Amino acid sequence: MYSKETIAAISTGMSNSGIGIVRISGEEAFQVIDKIYKGKEVLSKVQSHTIHYGYIVDGKETIDEVLVSIMRAPRTFTGEDTVEINCHGGVYVVKRVLDTVLRNGARPAEPGEFTKRAFLNGKMDLSQAEAVIDVITAKNEYALKSSMSQLKGSVKKKIEEIRKQIIYHTAFIETALDDPEHISVDGYGEQLEGVVETLSEELKDLIDSSENGRIMKEGIQTVILGKPNAGKSSLLNVLSGRERAIVTDIEGTTRDVLEEQIQIQGLNLNVIDTAGIRETEDKVEKIGVDKAKEYAEQADLIIYVVDASRELDENDIEIMKIIAGKKAVILLNKMDLNVLISKENLEQQLHKEIGGACKNIPMIEISAKEEQGIRDFENLLKKMFLQGEISFNDEVYITNMRQKSALQDAYNSLKKVKESIEMGMPEDFYSIDLMDAYEALGSITGETIGEDLVNEIFSKFCMGK
Ligand code: GDP
Repeated sequence: MYSKETIAAISTGMSNSGIGIVRISGEEAFQVIDKIYKGKEVLSKVQSHTIHYGYIVDGKETIDEVLVSIMRAPRTFTGEDTVEINCHGGVYVVKRVLDTVLRNGARPAEPGEFTKRAFLNGKMDLSQAEAVIDVITAKNEYALKSSMSQLKGSVKKKIEEIRKQIIYHTAFIETALDDPEHISVDGYGEQLEGVVETLSEELKDLIDSSENGRIMKEGIQTVILGKPNAGKSSLLNVLSGRERAIVTDIEGTTRDVLEEQIQIQGLNLNVIDTAGIRETEDKVEKIGVDKAKEYAEQADLIIYVVDASRELDENDIEIMKIIAGKKAVILLNKMDLNVLISKENLEQQLHKEIGGACKNIPMIEISAKEEQGIRDFENLLKKMFLQGEISFNDEVYITNMRQKSALQDAYNSLKKVKESIEMGMPEDFYSIDLMDAYEALGSITGETIGEDLVNEIFSKFCMGK
């Protein structure tokens, strides 16, 4: 699984920029740099964690003026001898430096190979390695904070604590079964049941945290519904703070589905603005209607914009049916105009159409045009999606679906243990399920995971990391 070859890659973005970094890692990293570096010192001889000014040369040709960092194993990211060449950040020049490195003893690194080596060398567990990519791809404050916390080992620590307890009890059962004369398991089932109960609750909390985790990481899948001219595009513009959708007075102009990412109070909203919902012969709008229903089906949040200056019509009724039982917010828009539909009117109508399902749907009066009520709406979203204050001090958030599914497996195994105890099964019966839970959790930290899966996980990384 572990190749000792010396690897190299460009670790910075592939566009012209101030600096570019070529990273070399492996046993021959210093030999490679000695061959292509010209400066005051021989870099294989200098102290670890020092930086040196000089030139990268390719035979007689000088490629670039550089700063080279020398870091000796094991105190490096990969745990191997590492060289980082800071060169000028032009795409061409960085590629030339990498070429020179590759022609002098290194081979191109695969995506994620540096981090994979860090994992294989025990510099971090798998959950931390996965956090590396999450830090890189973090799109907002919450995503960054939760992946930083995971990178520092919060998930690892939590999983290790739970595994320790499971292995203790499995070992006890095994020992007792091997030596029944000296160790009795009488009444042990009851004691274990309590432990399993507590551990299951902890796993459940972690699994539940993934909902917050997913929303932090990927954003809230949001769809805006409302009849034509209700003010959907105007709302989108206010929320995103710039002219994005085309706003006009002609009904049905927002035909295509627009997608936009908006940041509200540190949360990401992935907003889909759809054509107004109405039955029509017009082919284009028909698609809009179907899409609206389809997106509403998959959305985390539906924003229903009601035009308070016009009577409710069959489109509104249609939308009310769509939002029944879903996570939705109703925005009563155009409150700056002559109001025909009051909050009370709307509530009555809603109750008539969808009955009790309207109870959990909050309603806010706004004016997209005058930008009124928008702040209330934003605060409401925060309350709806981030249950309780998000704290990163001691709470662990699972943002990774692989980890979530492993937690679910462990949870199910513990459930089987509980059932076996309740049914009075013999101890060796549930020690197998205990071990299953132990293994499932081990796949999160990477202790009990096959080579194929490790390769698959790291192949999702970007180049040079
Ligand atoms: P959409 O079809 O639902 O996307 O509606 P638009 O955002 O295109 O808005 C339709 C018309 O209503 C435009 O002329 C907007 O300027 C106007 N409009 C939107 N929101 C408000 C509001 O809060 N007050 C007033 N007076 N007009 C609004």
